[in-house]
Parts: sequence; C-alpha cells; structure tokens
Amino acid sequence: MNEPILDVIVVGGGYAGLSLSYYLKNYSLNHVVFERGKVGESWRTQRWDSFKMNTANKLNLLPSDVGEANDPNAFCTASEYVASFEGYVSKFQMPVVENSKVVAIEKAQDFFKLAVLSNELIKHYFCHHWCGIGCDSPTLFQ
Ligand SMILES: Cc1cc2nc3c(=O)[nH]c(=O)nc-3n(C[C@H](O)[C@H](O)[C@H](O)COP(=O)(O)OP(=O)(O)OC[C@H]3O[C@@H](n4cnc5c(N)ncnc54)[C@H](O)[C@@H]3O)c2cc1C
Repeated sequence: MNEPILDVIVVGGGYAGLSLSYYLKNYSLNHVVFERGKVGESWRTQRWDSFKMNTANKLNLLPSDVGEANDPNAFCTASEYVASFEGYVSKFQMPVVENSKVVAIEKAQDFFKLAVLSNELIKHYFCHHWCGIGCDSPTLFQ
C-alpha cells in the first residue's frame, strides 16, 4: 500500500466536523474532512425558506470564531449560517473535501480504510482514527 495513512479522517463538514478539524489542526494532526455535499449541507438542504436559527448568533460560534459578520444577539437565516461556515473554512484553511461521501469504513490491520464516493468514482483513504459525529449514515459503522 503506497497511500499515506492520515492521523484522522472526519466524516461530515457541519458544526461538529469543522469544530473537530479546528482542534486537529491546532495539534498539527494530519487530517481531512469529507463532506458528501457542500460545507454546512444540512443547513442548505434540510431547512425551509423562512427558517431562522432558534439560537442567537453568539451561541452558534465555531471555535475561535468571533462572528464579526453577524449581530451577536440576532438570529440568522440558514444561508447566513452557511456563509459563516464557508468563511470559517476559508479563514482557517480547513482541509474540507466537498462532494465526497464516505460509503464504507473497514478496519484493516492497525488502521482504517475508508471508501469515498466522489464524481461516481470510489477512492480509498487510510487513517489511524476516524470520526463521524455529525454523520447520519449508521450503516457505515458495521
Ligand atoms: C430543523 C432543525 C433546526 C435546528 N436549529 C438549530 C438552531 O437554531 N440552533 C442550534 O444550535 N441547533 C439547531 N439544530 C441542531 C443542529 O443540527 C445541531 O446543533 C448541530 O448543528 C449539528 O451539527 P453536526 O455537525 O452534528 O451535524 P450536521 O450539521 O448535520 O453535519 C453533518 C454533515 O455530515 C455530512 N454527512 C453525513 N453523512 C456523510 C457521509 N457518509 N459522508 C460525508 N459526509 C456526510 C452531511 O452532509 C452534513 O453536512 C437544528 C436541527 C434541525 C434538524
């Protein structure tokens, strides 16, 4: 096997995945965040047009984010929230790979092998640890 073994693979580029990525980066851990759609996908596709957050902006901050774009006491829309994710990914240069769905995870010797579907092709990635906190694909974990 010639592929590099990453320290961590994170499944899902939502609040949980981005928060984790922030800390992994701070600890200089080699990692990647695979997101099946675009960053903040749940907020793009699983909310309604008139949706507004029920938590004020000051309660929605990602690690180290000061939320300068939004009034801290206001309640933003889903698209404003997505924009804050996009700004965060760009500001902290998060290793997010969009349009990449993790479709299988298996243990191989002392590392994990993840199958990732992107552009109708499956590619395999290897890591010592993986995490899918925000991921809603329970069949991955068999
Ligand atoms: C209708 C609704 C309204 C809500 N309103 C609020 C609110 O106002 N304030 C609040 O604090 N919380 C709210 N929540 C809860 C909110 O979802 C959580 O607080 C938190 O944002 C969830 O973050 P997460 O990263 O765990 O999940 P998500 O944001 O869902 O992120 C998971 C990501 O994983 C990706 N993913 C899933 N499976 C795979 C896979 N196999 N491969 C690659 N990527 C994958 C998804 O596309 C998604 O982007 C609301 C929830 C709902 C359903």
